[in-house]
Amino acid sequence: MPETADADLTRQPPGDSPTKSEQGDSGGLSARSGYPKTTEPIQIYWMYAIPLALIHILALLALIPSLFSWTGLVLAVLGHLTFGMLGITIGYHRLLTHQGFVCPKWLEHFLALLGICCLQDSPARWVAIHRLHHRDSDERPDPHSPLVNFFWGHVGWLLVKNRDHRDINCYERYVRDLLRDPFYLRLEKHALWLLIYITHAVLFFAAGFLYGWLTRDSLSYGLWFGTSLFVWGVVVRTVFVLNGTWAVNSLSHLWGYRNYATPDNSRNNWLVALLSHGEGWHNNHHQDQRAASHGHRWWEFDMSWWVIWLLERMGLAKEVVRPRKVTR
Ligand SMILES: [Zn+2]
Ligand SMILES: [Zn+2]
Repeated sequence: MPETADADLTRQPPGDSPTKSEQGDSGGLSARSGYPKTTEPIQIYWMYAIPLALIHILALLALIPSLFSWTGLVLAVLGHLTFGMLGITIGYHRLLTHQGFVCPKWLEHFLALLGICCLQDSPARWVAIHRLHHRDSDERPDPHSPLVNFFWGHVGWLLVKNRDHRDINCYERYVRDLLRDPFYLRLEKHALWLLIYITHAVLFFAAGFLYGWLTRDSLSYGLWFGTSLFVWGVVVRTVFVLNGTWAVNSLSHLWGYRNYATPDNSRNNWLVALLSHGEGWHNNHHQDQRAASHGHRWWEFDMSWWVIWLLERMGLAKEVVRPRKVTR
C-alpha cells in the first residue's frame, strides 16, 4: 500500500501542491466563470488538438457502409468494456487516482496499459489533472469545469496550453506516488505512451489483414478486413470512450440530481453512468472520492464496482474502499 493511501489524496494531493491562496485564485462562486489562469493567454495546444481532431475525422469512416464488419462492431463493444472500463474507469480513475483498492503490480500495470490504449494521455498526467479537478472542483483553477462553458468542460480545455499540465516538472508534485514506480516514469519519456497507442492500433489492422489474407487468399480482402477492424475496433471505440470520459467532466457537472450537498456542481447522471460504466454517479463520487463503488442507492448501477467486487472475490483486489455512507 502506498504510504499516502490513508490521506484523501484527491482533496490534498501528495506533495507540496500550492494552495488556492498561494496561487492567487479567489475560489468561490464568483470565480466560477473564468478559464484557469494558467491557460492565459489562450494558445492552441497543437500536440493535442491535431490527434484529437484526426481521430474524430477518422471516425467518420464508420459512415462508409463497405467498411462495416460484424467482427469490427463486436471488437468495438468489447473494446469499450476492456479498454474503457478496465483501463480508464477502473485503472486510471479508481485505482491509480483514488487508490480505491490495491492489486498486484502486474495487474495494476496491465490496467494502466489498457488505459493508454484509449488515447487519454499517460497515466501520470491523467491522474495529476484529475487530482487537480478534485482539489478545485468547479472553482477557477479546475482544469475542466463546464461552468466556464459546456465545450470547455467537455474538450476545449484539452485543446489549449495549460502551464499546470505542460511537462512532467509541472505536475509531478501531484503524482509523486505514481512516479516513484519506474514503469510510470518511463511512460512519460519520449511520449512512450503515445507509441504504445499507435502500436496497438497497428496491431488491430495487422491482425485483421493477416486473418483476411490467409483465410481467403486475397490481398484485397485482407486489406478490407484490416481496415474494418482498425476503423471499428480502434477509431470508433476510442472516440466513444473519449467522449464518455469527457461527458463525466461536462454533463455530470451540469445535469442530474444530487444525493449530497457537495461544494461543487457535481451531479448523478444516469446517461453518463450508462456510457461510462458507472462513472456518471459523479455527485456520489465527489462526496466520497476514494470509495471504489460509485453507486450509493440500490438502483444506481455501477458495472465497474461489480468488476472490482469480482476481483476482490478472486483475491486480486485488496483493501477495497467502501462508501462511508450509503444513501438509501
Ligand atoms: Zn468531477
Ligand atoms: Zn475522481
